[in-house]
Amino acid sequence: MYFSKSLIPILKNNPSEAKIKSHQLMLRTGMIKQSSAGIYSWLPLGFKVMKKIEQIVREEQDRIGAQEILMPTIQSSEIWKESGRYEDYGEEMLRIKDRQNRELLYGPTNEELITEIFRSSIKSYKSLPQLMYHIQWKFRDELRPRFGVMRCREFYMKDAYSFDLTDEDAQHSYNKFFLSYLKTFKRLDLSAIPMAADTGPIGGNLSHEFVIIADTGESKVYTDRRIFDVNNDEVALDKKSLMDLRKEYNKYYAVTDEKFNQNEFDINVTSENKLETKGIEVGHIFYFGDKYSKPMNASVDFNGSKEFVKMGSYGVGVSRLVGAIIEAKYDEKNEIMKWPLAISPFHCAILPQINKNDKTNLEKALNIHEHLKSKNIDTIIDDTDESISSKMKKFNLIGVPFQIIIGKKSEDDLVEFKEIGKDATKTKIEEIYKIIINKL
Ligand code: ATP
Ligand code: MG
Repeated sequence: MYFSKSLIPILKNNPSEAKIKSHQLMLRTGMIKQSSAGIYSWLPLGFKVMKKIEQIVREEQDRIGAQEILMPTIQSSEIWKESGRYEDYGEEMLRIKDRQNRELLYGPTNEELITEIFRSSIKSYKSLPQLMYHIQWKFRDELRPRFGVMRCREFYMKDAYSFDLTDEDAQHSYNKFFLSYLKTFKRLDLSAIPMAADTGPIGGNLSHEFVIIADTGESKVYTDRRIFDVNNDEVALDKKSLMDLRKEYNKYYAVTDEKFNQNEFDINVTSENKLETKGIEVGHIFYFGDKYSKPMNASVDFNGSKEFVKMGSYGVGVSRLVGAIIEAKYDEKNEIMKWPLAISPFHCAILPQINKNDKTNLEKALNIHEHLKSKNIDTIIDDTDESISSKMKKFNLIGVPFQIIIGKKSEDDLVEFKEIGKDATKTKIEEIYKIIINKL
């Protein structure tokens, strides 16, 4: 990719309308462009990052045996009337009428639609459990859309749904998603803590929000600091049975605002372990039994008796995660964005100093570019005539993890190489290839 031909509209300064660093950086590096309040276009840089996050989310859903489907964004009001939520959902739901005057809506979530799919497809308990997910745009007419992709009206969500015969089986499905979320956020290099949460308009009585601690978060959380050690324990994820893993987390107090109780907090947490802070909700899982299956008549045959299936739903804010990762990783003071390698918009940037009458640096850069491309290393070459220092500044802001600088003093196969945030060292080109391939 050539910078001169890319759609990466970098701004010189932070736009004044952006109040938090993720929103500032996303506008400044041209990752997104607002099209109307709380509705954004995703430009190449932002779109690439979001797609990489989406892929990690997908792989971890596939790993627990969830089946990917795709439901539409537009839904009929009929099924929402069956569940009783057409009235209940309130003003966040965008209601639409078609030319036949039929009531439609832009889906804010998909419990009804998936239940409808389930009830018309699955008849026997022998087909259970069924775990399905899709990754699709949602619309919620938020009263105060703000902070860029953090709270928009149109946003990209992974939502999964589980169907089981018994409460016990359903808990097992819940625990599978619980584990899969821990793994997903770990791969994104995030520390997202599961906190006991309220179920809101989705309903039910068992629920966890996965929260990243951040000053700019909109969720208030109360926790025992020791839960961070559980979260950092890699071994626990692989070795413990699902129930043991849940128990491990249950040992420590960790709740969102709605579940907070001062008395419980005081009894369960010593003052030095108490943490009252703010966080960003990046995922939310719910168990709600037959809340939808009963009114919508979604049942299976179990040895001649009709059993309403027990359901759960599981959301990840894929587009919100882009902003959340910036909040967690952006070094605002030095203007350096440290994307985890797995989701960085490019792996490597080649920054040649280009002189009017001497094309040697550009040619050298092109050769390196070709080689990296042949190794599937996602590379951008800055072929503009800006100065090296302004190129370096730009790619620190964009957050490209590996940078190859071809300046005045570059001898034949020796160039400046740096990992973002570190100093550059003169390195042989062959050596650079090895380092990058090793880290990918
Ligand atoms: P919030 O409390 O932040 O409004 P919610 O509890 O209404 O979110 P859920 O129904 O649990 O959201 O949706 C699942 C996930 O989708 C959330 O954990 C969050 O990451 C994401 N999400 C929800 N609303 C928005 C929004 N307006 N903009 C971006 N992402 C969102
Ligand atoms: Mg939620």
